[in-house]
Amino acid sequence: MIADNFPSEDLLEHLDDLLSLRNKFAYDYSVETIKKLTLDEYCEHAGDKSNFCYRLEHELEEMGHINVYAAAFGVKYDKDIHAYRGMKKYSKTEDPDEALAKIKKEIIALIHAGADEDYSAIRNSMIAPNIRYKILAVYYPDRYITVFAEWVLRYFCEKLDIPCEDSDDTLILQDKLVMWKNQQKHMQDWSLLVFVKYLYLEFDRPESGDDISVDSHKKKLKTLKKEIDGLTEKISKASEKTVLTRQRDEKIRAYALERAHGVCQLCGNLAPFYKKNGEPYLESHHIIPLAENGSDSIYNVVGLCPNCHRKMHSLKLAEDIKILKSKVAK
Ligand SMILES: [Zn+2]
Ligand SMILES: [Zn+2]
Repeated sequence: MIADNFPSEDLLEHLDDLLSLRNKFAYDYSVETIKKLTLDEYCEHAGDKSNFCYRLEHELEEMGHINVYAAAFGVKYDKDIHAYRGMKKYSKTEDPDEALAKIKKEIIALIHAGADEDYSAIRNSMIAPNIRYKILAVYYPDRYITVFAEWVLRYFCEKLDIPCEDSDDTLILQDKLVMWKNQQKHMQDWSLLVFVKYLYLEFDRPESGDDISVDSHKKKLKTLKKEIDGLTEKISKASEKTVLTRQRDEKIRAYALERAHGVCQLCGNLAPFYKKNGEPYLESHHIIPLAENGSDSIYNVVGLCPNCHRKMHSLKLAEDIKILKSKVAK
């Protein structure tokens, strides 16, 4: 429960420091500066911390955790080839310069849309949702709150008895929370940062699997692999195998989707949308169908976007099969 003296002097001082850090970011990355950003200045690479992506995600961690894989930023430093690679979403040929030019345009458009409160432009932005809402909260800390995941926003609304519709998205849910805050006499003077601190202190974090950070990703893969191996062992000894096999299939499927980590393993595009629980939507697919003696193992199942999944089933191209096999090789 929240203390009577909330927000304490210490908290206010701490949030002032956070705001200074945020001001520095906004100053360093004005629209004019964003236009001129180079790949090194935009992208995280080789541990360098003076770039837009690192500072947005980590330096300003307290202005909202964004839980994204590097690819979501649109250009990625590929350690294997020591070079930048653009994501297909922004450049068909994966050209990093072309991708960066497009991303910069999208970020600038988003900053303008945020100022105009142009919700349809914000919703149509190409930028991945979490990054999109974080940019808004960082550029307009008095206007957009630092909670981005729909299901977390819904959780807070529920706790506060704020009525929600199924169709409410992040922007609407954020608005409902801010409106509620402004109706509470003692909260009217609070900044949005203070309000978000209050929400987390009062109601705690909701439980669920939103945490798709790198560490928990590796941990999940490890746990699933263990469970699959355990089931395989059991199946080999059991006489009635159906239930165990079904359990294992479910785990293999979960493993394959976790391994894909939000990126289609055929086209390399990001999952088309996020599910209500915050996980990226991908479909699991057997590279060699079980009916054609494909193995029931993590080395035969991939995560695909719905388009590529349809493509695999209708065309079954040898070159695609080869790509998928390389993605799951031991
Ligand atoms: Zn795909
Ligand atoms: Zn399939």
